[in-house]
Amino acid sequence: MPQFRQTDQTTFQVAATAGDARAGTLTINGQTLETPTFFPVLSFYGGGTKSSVFGGGVHRTIKEFMIGDDAIGGGTYEEYFRGTMTSVAALTDYGINRERFDDYTAERIKDREPFSEYSGLIFVDSGGYKFLHSDGLDGSDFEIEIDQREAFRIQNQLGGDIVVNLDRPITPNDTFEERQTKAERTAENAVEFARLTQDYPGARYLTVHGYNYSMLNRFFDTVQSQFGNIDISTLFDGIALGSLVPKKDNKEALITAVMDCVEIMEERGLEDLPLHILGIGSSSIPLLVAAGADTFDATTYILNAINEKYSVSLTDHIPLDEVDFSQCDCPVCSTPMLVDRMQGNAEYQKDILGPVAMHNLIIHKQEVQELRQRIKQHGTDPLINYLDETVGRRDPIRKQTHRVVNQSLGGYF
Ligand SMILES: [Zn+2]
Repeated sequence: MPQFRQTDQTTFQVAATAGDARAGTLTINGQTLETPTFFPVLSFYGGGTKSSVFGGGVHRTIKEFMIGDDAIGGGTYEEYFRGTMTSVAALTDYGINRERFDDYTAERIKDREPFSEYSGLIFVDSGGYKFLHSDGLDGSDFEIEIDQREAFRIQNQLGGDIVVNLDRPITPNDTFEERQTKAERTAENAVEFARLTQDYPGARYLTVHGYNYSMLNRFFDTVQSQFGNIDISTLFDGIALGSLVPKKDNKEALITAVMDCVEIMEERGLEDLPLHILGIGSSSIPLLVAAGADTFDATTYILNAINEKYSVSLTDHIPLDEVDFSQCDCPVCSTPMLVDRMQGNAEYQKDILGPVAMHNLIIHKQEVQELRQRIKQHGTDPLINYLDETVGRRDPIRKQTHRVVNQSLGGYF
Protein backbone atom coordinates (compact mmCIF):
# COMPACT_ATOMS: atom_id res chain seq x y z
CA MET A 1 0.00 0.00 0.00
CA PRO A 2 1.38 3.47 -0.81
CA GLN A 3 1.98 6.10 1.80
CA PHE A 4 -0.80 8.58 2.36
CA ARG A 5 -0.39 11.77 4.29
CA GLN A 6 -2.58 12.83 7.16
CA THR A 7 -4.85 15.78 6.54
CA ASP A 8 -3.56 19.03 7.94
CA GLN A 9 -4.50 22.09 5.92
CA THR A 10 -8.21 21.86 6.55
CA THR A 11 -10.10 22.17 9.79
CA PHE A 12 -13.79 21.80 10.38
CA GLN A 13 -15.06 22.87 13.77
CA VAL A 14 -18.64 22.49 14.91
CA ALA A 15 -19.60 25.48 17.05
CA ALA A 16 -23.23 24.60 17.79
CA THR A 17 -25.76 21.88 17.16
CA ALA A 18 -29.54 21.69 17.13
CA GLY A 19 -30.44 18.02 16.95
CA ASP A 20 -28.50 16.67 13.97
CA ALA A 21 -28.10 20.15 12.45
CA ARG A 22 -24.74 21.78 12.99
CA ALA A 23 -23.23 25.21 12.61
CA GLY A 24 -19.49 25.50 12.32
CA THR A 25 -16.46 26.87 10.55
CA LEU A 26 -14.60 25.30 7.65
CA THR A 27 -11.05 26.60 7.26
CA ILE A 28 -9.00 25.77 4.18
CA ASN A 29 -5.62 27.33 3.44
CA GLY A 30 -6.27 30.03 6.00
CA GLN A 31 -9.68 31.02 4.63
CA THR A 32 -12.75 30.41 6.75
CA LEU A 33 -16.34 29.78 5.74
CA GLU A 34 -19.17 29.62 8.21
CA THR A 35 -21.36 26.56 7.77
CA PRO A 36 -23.99 25.63 6.80
CA THR A 37 -23.08 27.36 3.58
CA PHE A 38 -24.12 27.44 -0.06
CA PHE A 39 -21.56 27.41 -2.90
CA PRO A 40 -23.00 29.08 -6.01
CA VAL A 41 -22.12 27.12 -9.14
CA LEU A 42 -20.53 29.22 -11.82
CA SER A 43 -18.57 28.66 -14.99
CA PHE A 44 -15.34 30.64 -14.81
CA TYR A 45 -14.84 29.97 -18.50
CA GLY A 46 -16.73 29.98 -21.70
CA GLY A 47 -16.79 31.40 -25.17
CA GLY A 48 -15.37 34.83 -24.69
CA THR A 49 -12.01 36.33 -24.15
CA LYS A 50 -10.10 38.00 -21.35
CA SER A 51 -11.71 41.37 -21.98
CA SER A 52 -15.19 39.88 -21.53
CA VAL A 53 -14.43 38.11 -18.23
CA PHE A 54 -14.33 34.96 -20.37
CA GLY A 55 -17.87 35.40 -21.67
CA GLY A 56 -20.68 33.02 -20.87
CA GLY A 57 -24.10 34.74 -20.82
CA VAL A 58 -25.66 35.05 -17.36
CA HIS A 59 -22.57 33.33 -15.90
CA ARG A 60 -20.58 36.26 -17.23
CA THR A 61 -22.78 38.80 -15.45
CA ILE A 62 -22.49 36.79 -12.23
CA LYS A 63 -18.69 36.97 -12.58
CA GLU A 64 -18.99 40.73 -13.09
CA PHE A 65 -20.83 40.90 -9.76
CA MET A 66 -18.21 38.66 -8.19
CA ILE A 67 -15.39 41.05 -9.08
CA GLY A 68 -17.41 44.29 -8.72
CA ASP A 69 -16.99 45.14 -12.42
CA ASP A 70 -17.95 48.56 -13.81
CA ALA A 71 -20.36 46.83 -16.19
CA ILE A 72 -22.78 46.24 -13.30
CA GLY A 73 -22.03 49.56 -11.62
CA GLY A 74 -19.28 48.25 -9.36
CA GLY A 75 -20.47 47.51 -5.84
CA THR A 76 -19.29 44.99 -3.28
CA TYR A 77 -20.63 41.50 -3.66
CA GLU A 78 -17.61 39.45 -2.48
CA GLU A 79 -19.40 38.21 0.61
CA TYR A 80 -21.70 36.11 -1.59
CA PHE A 81 -18.76 34.45 -3.31
CA ARG A 82 -16.51 33.39 -0.42
CA GLY A 83 -17.03 29.83 -1.62
CA THR A 84 -17.86 28.97 -5.24
CA MET A 85 -18.30 25.72 -7.13
CA THR A 86 -17.15 24.95 -10.65
CA SER A 87 -16.51 21.76 -12.56
CA VAL A 88 -13.86 20.29 -14.81
CA ALA A 89 -16.77 19.47 -17.13
CA ALA A 90 -17.69 23.19 -17.46
CA LEU A 91 -14.43 23.94 -19.27
CA THR A 92 -15.79 22.92 -22.67
CA ASP A 93 -19.44 23.98 -22.19
CA TYR A 94 -19.06 26.53 -24.96
CA GLY A 95 -17.39 24.34 -27.57
CA ILE A 96 -13.93 25.88 -27.34
CA ASN A 97 -10.94 24.78 -29.43
CA ARG A 98 -7.86 23.01 -28.12
CA GLU A 99 -5.80 26.18 -28.03
CA ARG A 100 -8.36 27.91 -25.81
CA PHE A 101 -8.56 24.87 -23.55
CA ASP A 102 -4.79 24.87 -23.09
CA ASP A 103 -4.97 28.57 -22.31
CA TYR A 104 -7.75 28.07 -19.72
CA THR A 105 -5.78 25.36 -17.94
CA ALA A 106 -2.39 27.05 -18.16
CA GLU A 107 -2.94 29.20 -15.08
CA ARG A 108 -4.84 28.97 -11.79
CA ILE A 109 -8.22 30.69 -11.94
CA LYS A 110 -7.18 33.11 -9.21
CA ASP A 111 -3.93 33.96 -11.00
CA ARG A 112 -5.77 35.11 -14.11
CA GLU A 113 -6.07 38.83 -14.58
CA PRO A 114 -9.91 39.10 -14.54
CA PHE A 115 -10.10 37.18 -11.25
CA SER A 116 -6.98 38.51 -9.57
CA GLU A 117 -9.06 40.32 -6.93
CA TYR A 118 -11.06 37.19 -6.15
CA SER A 119 -9.95 35.44 -2.97
CA GLY A 120 -12.85 33.06 -2.24
CA LEU A 121 -12.54 29.29 -1.98
CA ILE A 122 -13.10 27.41 -5.24
CA PHE A 123 -14.54 23.91 -5.09
CA VAL A 124 -13.66 22.13 -8.35
CA ASP A 125 -15.88 19.15 -9.01
CA SER A 126 -14.38 16.32 -11.09
CA GLY A 127 -17.30 16.35 -13.52
CA GLY A 128 -17.97 12.63 -13.06
CA TYR A 129 -21.70 13.12 -13.65
CA LYS A 130 -20.92 14.44 -17.13
CA PHE A 131 -18.20 11.97 -18.09
CA LEU A 132 -20.44 9.05 -17.21
CA HIS A 133 -21.72 8.88 -20.77
CA SER A 134 -18.90 10.52 -22.72
CA ASP A 135 -15.73 9.55 -20.82
CA GLY A 136 -14.18 12.81 -21.86
CA LEU A 137 -14.13 16.51 -22.54
CA ASP A 138 -15.42 17.60 -25.94
CA GLY A 139 -14.30 20.84 -27.47
CA SER A 140 -15.07 22.06 -30.97
CA ASP A 141 -12.03 20.34 -32.48
CA PHE A 142 -10.60 18.09 -29.77
CA GLU A 143 -11.46 15.42 -27.25
CA ILE A 144 -9.69 14.58 -24.02
CA GLU A 145 -10.21 11.27 -22.32
CA ILE A 146 -10.77 11.82 -18.63
CA ASP A 147 -9.45 9.40 -16.06
CA GLN A 148 -8.63 10.04 -12.41
CA ARG A 149 -5.15 11.31 -13.20
CA GLU A 150 -6.35 13.74 -15.91
CA ALA A 151 -9.29 14.98 -13.80
CA PHE A 152 -6.98 15.79 -10.91
CA ARG A 153 -4.40 17.36 -13.22
CA ILE A 154 -7.05 19.83 -14.40
CA GLN A 155 -8.41 20.48 -10.87
CA ASN A 156 -4.84 21.23 -9.81
CA GLN A 157 -4.19 23.50 -12.82
CA LEU A 158 -7.34 25.48 -12.03
CA GLY A 159 -6.14 25.89 -8.44
CA GLY A 160 -9.11 24.26 -6.70
CA ASP A 161 -9.17 24.83 -2.94
CA ILE A 162 -11.45 21.81 -2.59
CA VAL A 163 -11.09 18.87 -4.98
CA VAL A 164 -12.93 15.53 -5.20
CA ASN A 165 -12.11 12.16 -6.72
CA LEU A 166 -13.46 11.29 -10.17
CA ASP A 167 -16.68 9.46 -9.37
CA ARG A 168 -19.15 7.28 -11.24
CA PRO A 169 -22.55 8.56 -10.15
CA ILE A 170 -25.44 6.11 -10.01
CA THR A 171 -28.84 6.62 -11.60
CA PRO A 172 -32.26 5.49 -10.34
CA ASN A 173 -32.48 2.96 -13.20
CA ASP A 174 -29.18 1.21 -12.48
CA THR A 175 -29.33 -2.48 -11.65
CA PHE A 176 -27.65 -3.78 -8.52
CA GLU A 177 -24.69 -5.01 -10.59
CA GLU A 178 -24.31 -1.65 -12.34
CA ARG A 179 -24.29 0.20 -9.03
CA GLN A 180 -21.72 -2.19 -7.61
CA THR A 181 -19.46 -1.80 -10.66
CA LYS A 182 -19.70 2.00 -10.37
CA ALA A 183 -18.91 1.83 -6.65
CA GLU A 184 -15.82 -0.27 -7.39
CA ARG A 185 -14.60 2.13 -10.07
CA THR A 186 -15.21 5.13 -7.82
CA ALA A 187 -13.36 3.38 -4.98
CA GLU A 188 -10.38 2.59 -7.24
CA ASN A 189 -10.30 6.24 -8.28
CA ALA A 190 -10.47 7.30 -4.63
CA VAL A 191 -7.29 5.32 -3.90
CA GLU A 192 -5.47 6.88 -6.85
CA PHE A 193 -6.84 10.31 -5.90
CA ALA A 194 -5.55 9.92 -2.33
CA ARG A 195 -2.14 9.04 -3.72
CA LEU A 196 -2.09 11.89 -6.26
CA THR A 197 -3.17 14.49 -3.68
CA GLN A 198 -0.67 13.58 -0.97
CA ASP A 199 0.97 16.99 -1.18
CA TYR A 200 -2.01 18.92 -2.43
CA PRO A 201 -2.39 22.33 -0.77
CA GLY A 202 -6.15 22.15 -0.40
CA ALA A 203 -9.02 20.03 0.88
CA ARG A 204 -9.65 16.55 -0.56
CA TYR A 205 -13.20 15.26 -0.49
CA LEU A 206 -14.40 11.70 -1.04
CA THR A 207 -17.56 11.29 -3.11
CA VAL A 208 -20.12 8.75 -1.94
CA HIS A 209 -23.20 7.51 -3.76
CA GLY A 210 -26.42 5.88 -2.64
CA TYR A 211 -30.03 6.64 -1.86
CA ASN A 212 -30.44 4.86 1.46
CA TYR A 213 -28.67 3.12 4.31
CA SER A 214 -28.00 -0.21 2.64
CA MET A 215 -26.76 1.31 -0.62
CA LEU A 216 -24.54 3.85 1.13
CA ASN A 217 -23.24 1.30 3.62
CA ARG A 218 -22.27 -1.00 0.76
CA PHE A 219 -20.59 1.92 -0.99
CA PHE A 220 -18.51 2.79 2.09
CA ASP A 221 -17.60 -0.90 2.46
CA THR A 222 -16.41 -0.97 -1.15
CA VAL A 223 -14.25 2.12 -0.61
CA GLN A 224 -12.87 0.85 2.68
CA SER A 225 -11.94 -2.52 1.15
CA GLN A 226 -9.81 -0.68 -1.44
CA PHE A 227 -7.94 1.13 1.34
CA GLY A 228 -7.35 -1.99 3.41
CA ASN A 229 -6.58 -1.16 7.02
CA ILE A 230 -6.08 2.56 6.48
CA ASP A 231 -8.61 4.70 8.34
CA ILE A 232 -10.20 6.81 5.58
CA SER A 233 -11.08 9.57 8.04
CA THR A 234 -7.36 10.43 8.08
CA LEU A 235 -7.14 10.68 4.27
CA PHE A 236 -10.03 12.96 3.37
CA ASP A 237 -11.11 16.38 4.55
CA GLY A 238 -14.78 16.00 3.69
CA ILE A 239 -17.49 13.75 2.27
CA ALA A 240 -19.46 14.77 -0.84
CA LEU A 241 -22.78 12.99 -1.32
CA GLY A 242 -23.64 12.73 -5.02
CA SER A 243 -26.15 11.18 -7.43
CA LEU A 244 -29.08 13.05 -5.86
CA VAL A 245 -29.79 15.44 -8.76
CA PRO A 246 -32.23 13.01 -10.49
CA LYS A 247 -34.14 12.99 -7.19
CA LYS A 248 -34.00 16.73 -6.59
CA ASP A 249 -37.79 17.12 -6.61
CA ASN A 250 -38.35 14.16 -4.29
CA LYS A 251 -37.83 15.59 -0.79
CA GLU A 252 -38.56 12.27 0.87
CA ALA A 253 -35.73 10.59 -1.06
CA LEU A 254 -33.27 13.44 -0.39
CA ILE A 255 -33.97 13.40 3.34
CA THR A 256 -33.53 9.61 3.52
CA ALA A 257 -30.21 9.80 1.67
CA VAL A 258 -28.82 12.55 3.92
CA MET A 259 -30.10 11.10 7.21
CA ASP A 260 -28.70 7.67 6.35
CA CYS A 261 -25.37 9.13 5.20
CA VAL A 262 -25.08 11.03 8.49
CA GLU A 263 -25.82 7.84 10.44
CA ILE A 264 -23.20 5.83 8.52
CA MET A 265 -20.60 8.59 8.91
CA GLU A 266 -21.16 8.44 12.68
CA GLU A 267 -20.86 4.64 12.75
CA ARG A 268 -17.59 4.82 10.80
CA GLY A 269 -15.96 7.62 12.79
CA LEU A 270 -16.35 10.14 9.96
CA GLU A 271 -18.74 12.47 11.80
CA ASP A 272 -16.06 15.15 12.24
CA LEU A 273 -15.84 15.67 8.48
CA PRO A 274 -18.06 18.23 6.73
CA LEU A 275 -20.84 16.71 4.59
CA HIS A 276 -21.34 18.38 1.20
CA ILE A 277 -24.42 17.68 -0.92
CA LEU A 278 -23.61 17.86 -4.64
CA GLY A 279 -26.04 19.69 -6.92
CA ILE A 280 -28.94 20.31 -4.53
CA GLY A 281 -30.18 23.75 -3.45
CA SER A 282 -33.27 25.89 -2.96
CA SER A 283 -36.19 24.52 -0.97
CA SER A 284 -34.32 21.34 -0.01
CA ILE A 285 -31.65 23.21 1.93
CA PRO A 286 -33.57 23.83 5.21
CA LEU A 287 -34.63 20.18 5.50
CA LEU A 288 -31.19 18.82 4.61
CA VAL A 289 -29.46 21.21 7.02
CA ALA A 290 -31.79 19.91 9.73
CA ALA A 291 -30.83 16.36 8.72
CA GLY A 292 -27.12 17.16 9.22
CA ALA A 293 -25.74 18.41 5.87
CA ASP A 294 -23.15 21.20 6.09
CA THR A 295 -22.56 22.58 2.59
CA PHE A 296 -24.41 22.69 -0.74
CA ASP A 297 -23.96 23.74 -4.33
CA ALA A 298 -26.48 24.32 -7.10
CA THR A 299 -27.15 26.30 -10.28
CA THR A 300 -30.83 26.91 -9.43
CA TYR A 301 -30.25 30.61 -8.73
CA ILE A 302 -29.13 30.99 -12.38
CA LEU A 303 -31.62 28.53 -13.89
CA ASN A 304 -34.51 30.27 -12.15
CA ALA A 305 -33.30 33.63 -13.48
CA ILE A 306 -33.06 32.22 -17.02
CA ASN A 307 -36.68 31.09 -16.60
CA GLU A 308 -37.54 34.64 -15.43
CA LYS A 309 -38.22 33.56 -11.88
CA TYR A 310 -37.34 35.99 -9.08
CA SER A 311 -36.81 34.41 -5.64
CA VAL A 312 -38.62 35.72 -2.59
CA SER A 313 -37.42 32.86 -0.36
CA LEU A 314 -35.75 29.46 -0.76
CA THR A 315 -39.16 27.99 -1.58
CA ASP A 316 -41.00 30.72 -3.48
CA HIS A 317 -40.43 32.74 -6.60
CA ILE A 318 -42.56 35.06 -8.69
CA PRO A 319 -42.58 35.78 -12.43
CA LEU A 320 -40.13 38.55 -13.29
CA ASP A 321 -42.78 40.77 -14.91
CA GLU A 322 -44.81 40.81 -11.66
CA VAL A 323 -41.99 41.86 -9.32
CA ASP A 324 -42.19 44.98 -7.16
CA PHE A 325 -38.47 45.59 -6.72
CA SER A 326 -39.03 48.08 -3.90
CA GLN A 327 -40.00 45.11 -1.68
CA CYS A 328 -36.40 43.82 -1.63
CA ASP A 329 -33.58 45.73 0.06
CA CYS A 330 -30.74 43.63 -1.37
CA PRO A 331 -27.89 45.52 -3.09
CA VAL A 332 -29.17 44.54 -6.56
CA CYS A 333 -32.76 45.71 -6.02
CA SER A 334 -31.43 48.88 -4.32
CA THR A 335 -29.50 49.92 -7.43
CA PRO A 336 -31.74 51.88 -9.87
CA MET A 337 -29.64 50.97 -12.92
CA LEU A 338 -29.95 47.22 -12.16
CA VAL A 339 -33.69 47.51 -11.43
CA ASP A 340 -34.10 49.26 -14.78
CA ARG A 341 -32.34 46.36 -16.50
CA MET A 342 -34.39 43.73 -14.65
CA GLN A 343 -37.49 45.55 -15.93
CA GLY A 344 -36.32 44.67 -19.42
CA ASN A 345 -34.48 47.83 -20.38
CA ALA A 346 -31.33 46.27 -21.79
CA GLU A 347 -30.27 44.92 -25.14
CA TYR A 348 -28.88 41.58 -23.99
CA GLN A 349 -30.58 38.87 -21.92
CA LYS A 350 -27.47 38.57 -19.75
CA ASP A 351 -27.94 42.18 -18.62
CA ILE A 352 -31.64 41.62 -17.85
CA LEU A 353 -31.38 38.18 -16.23
CA GLY A 354 -27.88 38.43 -14.71
CA PRO A 355 -29.02 40.85 -11.96
CA VAL A 356 -32.01 38.56 -11.30
CA ALA A 357 -29.61 35.64 -10.81
CA MET A 358 -27.53 37.76 -8.43
CA HIS A 359 -30.64 38.73 -6.44
CA ASN A 360 -31.67 35.03 -6.32
CA LEU A 361 -28.22 34.14 -5.00
CA ILE A 362 -28.44 36.80 -2.30
CA ILE A 363 -31.81 35.39 -1.16
CA HIS A 364 -30.21 31.91 -1.03
CA LYS A 365 -27.31 33.19 1.04
CA GLN A 366 -29.54 35.20 3.41
CA GLU A 367 -31.75 32.20 4.13
CA VAL A 368 -28.78 29.93 4.78
CA GLN A 369 -27.37 32.57 7.14
CA GLU A 370 -30.71 32.58 8.96
CA LEU A 371 -30.51 28.78 9.32
CA ARG A 372 -27.01 29.17 10.78
CA GLN A 373 -28.25 31.66 13.34
CA ARG A 374 -31.20 29.44 14.32
CA ILE A 375 -28.83 26.52 14.96
CA LYS A 376 -26.67 28.72 17.17
CA GLN A 377 -29.62 29.72 19.35
CA HIS A 378 -30.47 27.65 22.40
CA GLY A 379 -32.27 24.34 21.84
CA THR A 380 -34.01 23.06 18.73
CA ASP A 381 -37.11 25.31 18.85
CA PRO A 382 -35.66 28.21 16.81
CA LEU A 383 -34.81 25.84 13.93
CA ILE A 384 -38.10 23.94 14.22
CA ASN A 385 -39.97 27.25 14.11
CA TYR A 386 -38.05 28.27 11.01
CA LEU A 387 -38.94 25.01 9.25
CA ASP A 388 -42.59 25.37 10.29
CA GLU A 389 -42.76 28.95 9.03
CA THR A 390 -41.10 28.21 5.68
CA VAL A 391 -41.10 24.73 4.11
CA GLY A 392 -43.69 23.44 6.62
CA ARG A 393 -46.26 25.88 5.23
CA ARG A 394 -46.16 24.22 1.85
CA ASP A 395 -48.51 21.34 1.41
CA PRO A 396 -46.35 18.86 -0.48
CA ILE A 397 -43.43 19.39 1.92
CA ARG A 398 -45.31 19.50 5.24
CA LYS A 399 -45.08 15.76 5.78
CA GLN A 400 -41.32 15.73 5.13
CA THR A 401 -40.86 18.69 7.47
CA HIS A 402 -42.57 16.74 10.26
CA ARG A 403 -40.39 13.74 9.53
CA VAL A 404 -37.17 15.77 9.81
CA VAL A 405 -38.35 17.47 12.99
CA ASN A 406 -39.23 14.11 14.53
CA GLN A 407 -36.19 12.17 13.39
CA SER A 408 -33.36 14.74 13.32
CA LEU A 409 -34.44 17.44 15.78
CA GLY A 410 -35.90 15.33 18.57
CA GLY A 411 -39.57 15.98 17.76
CA TYR A 412 -41.99 18.75 18.59
CA PHE A 413 -42.37 18.00 22.32
ZN1 LIG B 1 -33.18 41.80 -4.32
